[in-house]
Amino acid sequence: MRYFTSSMNNATHFFRRHLFEWAAANPRPMPWKGEKDPYKIWLSEIILQQTRVEQGWPYFEKFVAHYPHVRALADAPEDDVLKLWEGLGYYTRARNLHAAAKHIAYELGGIFPNTFDALLALRGVGDYTAAAIASFAYNLPHAVLDGNVYRVLARYFAIETPTDLPVAKKQFSALAHEMLDPVHPAAFNQAMMDFGATCCTPSQPGCGGCPLRPECAAACSNRVGEFPVRIKKMEKKKRFFMYVVIRHGEQTWLRKRASNDIWRGLYEFPMLEVAQLAELHTRSIEQVLWPDGLPPAAKWGNTSEYYRHILTHQDIEAAFIELHLPLGTDPAFFRLPWLEGSFEVPYLEAKKKFAFPRLIVRFFDKNV
Ligand code: SF4
Repeated sequence: MRYFTSSMNNATHFFRRHLFEWAAANPRPMPWKGEKDPYKIWLSEIILQQTRVEQGWPYFEKFVAHYPHVRALADAPEDDVLKLWEGLGYYTRARNLHAAAKHIAYELGGIFPNTFDALLALRGVGDYTAAAIASFAYNLPHAVLDGNVYRVLARYFAIETPTDLPVAKKQFSALAHEMLDPVHPAAFNQAMMDFGATCCTPSQPGCGGCPLRPECAAACSNRVGEFPVRIKKMEKKKRFFMYVVIRHGEQTWLRKRASNDIWRGLYEFPMLEVAQLAELHTRSIEQVLWPDGLPPAAKWGNTSEYYRHILTHQDIEAAFIELHLPLGTDPAFFRLPWLEGSFEVPYLEAKKKFAFPRLIVRFFDKNV
C-alpha cells in the first residue's frame, strides 16, 4: 500500500493530473452536470443511488418538470411522487425524498442546507450524497466514496483490506480525501465517478488505455481481478408471490402495501406468498384464501408465465392467476382478513392511476 510512503505527494499529484486529463478527453454529458442548484443536484443523486445513469436520466427530467423546486415536491401527494418514481425501484428513496422535501420546505423555510453535516441530517442522505451535494453545489472539499471510488482506489493502491469490512470505510475515506483536489472538489469528484463508471469498471476495465496505468499497483502486478477484495458473498432470499387478479366485470381489486416490507406504499393485486410456485394448484389457493368456498359461478382463469424480479437482497418469482367472479357477487365475499384494505377499481385504469412495483407493471404491459 504505497500511499503510506513519503512519495504520497507525488502519487497524489500524478493521480489528480491524469484523472483530470482523462476527464477532459472523455466528457460524459448528463443533464445535471455543472448544475449548481442544490435541489436539482440532490434529486439527481437520490435518483442515481442504486440506479444506472441511463435509467435515471429520464426520471430526473420528469421530476424536474413536475417539481421544479423543493416546495413543489413537498406539496405533492405521496401517491403522485411514487407514481412518478414507478419503475425505478428502491421506493424508500422516493419516500425519503418526499419527507426531506417537506422538512426543507416547511421547517427550514425552503432554504436548502449548505454544509456537509446539515445535508447529512436530511432523510435518505448518507455520506456519499452529502459529499456530492456539498462539492457540486457549494464547492466544499468533501470526497465522494461509493462503489466506484472504492474500486478505483483499491486497484490503484492494491489495498488488501476487504471493502465490506467496517474498518475499510475509514481507511478508504481517509485516502479519498487525501487524493481529492481541495481547490476543485466538484470537478475531482465528478471525474472519479465517471472514471470508475466507464474506465475502471467492475469487469473488463480499460487498463490498456488508462492514463493511471503506469502507477496503478494492481495493473503493474497483473492483479486487477483481485481488487477490490471482498469477504462476504451475499445470499439472496428467495420469495414466491402468487397474485390473484380478481376480474369482476370491468373491475379488479387492488390493495396498498402497508407493512414494513419491500414496496411499501405501492399498489398490488391481492397476493399470497408461498413456499414454491411450481406445485401450486387453484385448490390449495382456494383453501387458504377462501376457506368457506368461492361463489358457485366463480371461475379460475389463466395462470401467467413466471415473472422474476431481483433486488439487492431478494430474488422474487411471481405468477398471476385470474379469478373471474360473476357480476353482483355478494360484497361479503370481499370481507376477508387477507383482503382487508383492498378496494375495487376499473381494471383498465389501474395501471395509469396507481404506482405499482415493476413486476406488476410488466404484467400489465402484457395484459392490458
Ligand atoms: S490501470 Fe486498470 S485497474 Fe488501474 S486504475 Fe486504470 S483501469 Fe483501473
